[in-house]
Amino acid sequence: MSHVMNTYSRLPVSFVRGEGVWLWDEAGRRYLDAIAGIAVNTLGHAHPGLVRVIAEQAGRLLHVSNLYRIDEQEKLADKLAAISGMDNAFFCNSGCEANEAAIKIARLYGHKKGVEQPAIVVMDKSFHGRTLATLSATGNRKVQAGFEPLVPGFVRVPFNDVAAVRRAAADSSIVAVLVEPIQGEGGINLSSMNYLRDLRALCDQHGWLLMVDEVQCGLGRTGRWFVYQHAGILPDVMPLAKGLGSGVPIGVCLARGTAAQTFEPGNHGSTFGGNPLACAAALATLEAIERQDLLRNAERVGTLLLAGLREGLAGLDGVVEIRGHGLMLGIELDRPCGVLARKALEAGLLINVTMDTVIRLLPALVMQETEARQLLSTLLPLVRDFLAQPAAAAAARA
Ligand code: PLP
Repeated sequence: MSHVMNTYSRLPVSFVRGEGVWLWDEAGRRYLDAIAGIAVNTLGHAHPGLVRVIAEQAGRLLHVSNLYRIDEQEKLADKLAAISGMDNAFFCNSGCEANEAAIKIARLYGHKKGVEQPAIVVMDKSFHGRTLATLSATGNRKVQAGFEPLVPGFVRVPFNDVAAVRRAAADSSIVAVLVEPIQGEGGINLSSMNYLRDLRALCDQHGWLLMVDEVQCGLGRTGRWFVYQHAGILPDVMPLAKGLGSGVPIGVCLARGTAAQTFEPGNHGSTFGGNPLACAAALATLEAIERQDLLRNAERVGTLLLAGLREGLAGLDGVVEIRGHGLMLGIELDRPCGVLARKALEAGLLINVTMDTVIRLLPALVMQETEARQLLSTLLPLVRDFLAQPAAAAAARA
């Protein structure tokens, strides 16, 4: 009997080491990693610069708590403010905590405006985490079922539909809008840039906070630091995590303007949040992204992958849509395809399937063009074979 709690359906493999976009299992077999720890290993595995910084920091100072000033945290906050246009940062350890901080900022902001029961507009198919507040904000019944009563104070509308948000404005308790500019868990659903601009205008008009969850899509994956930068807007609040520490757990809630002044000492906190080790890893990640020109690489390799997928699967029955931006890509099929993750593993490739029917690719930002071509040459035949199978067709009809 395993003593690990039964919360994941895991694939039958255990990795012992990695290098760049490659992983090796216990038997010495090599795998091309196109999922990067679910958008976490920004710099790939065992990046020498990151490893050096982590080792040095661990040898000097791991943790002191937020009872004291933390030099690395202050430096990281400065750097994040510079690349994002935000004013300040609350540090935590994960994406759900970053979203929890955002939700608390919105509620406190509402109370300070005299709104007694502040509510936040959230989207269908969104994912914000698995704590009680963030699963309540999440637009997926599977994530919520069994954990009722949900946390109140969320008004749900369809994604990418600004008219629906405009209609929600009739509710005077609304104080904020929370949106992923590209929904990750929800199936790689891209918002239009006009939608983001319209949301910004609507929030300005009503005095709401625009809270942009960049936990999965942010930090360089689409060729800019953050997706909202493609739309030329600034959010008021931005939760961020996953790729920030390139594998060392760290989350952050960035805020701007009034939102940045909402919390006061005693309102929020975290024992581990922003400790010297995590912040040193995040600083090293950001520096490496700049030094290695990884934003441009993400855009270039992402464009190659998207074109390769579209060309390789063109006209194929069963392919609903191939979409993505930079190194965040989805292939939606007309049938459940979870089995493809296992088939890819057998073929030496790590991918993931979300929402049952969407193959998801989230490779490290260091992926090279030759590696992207290897990815295509392994994945495309698997998808073609899968769609050609009578069993898969039957499953689609069922
Ligand atoms: N927000 C988004 C957009 C996510 O994709 C995720 C995780 O997938 C989260 C929040 C939650 O992050 P974590 O699992 O680190 O709590």
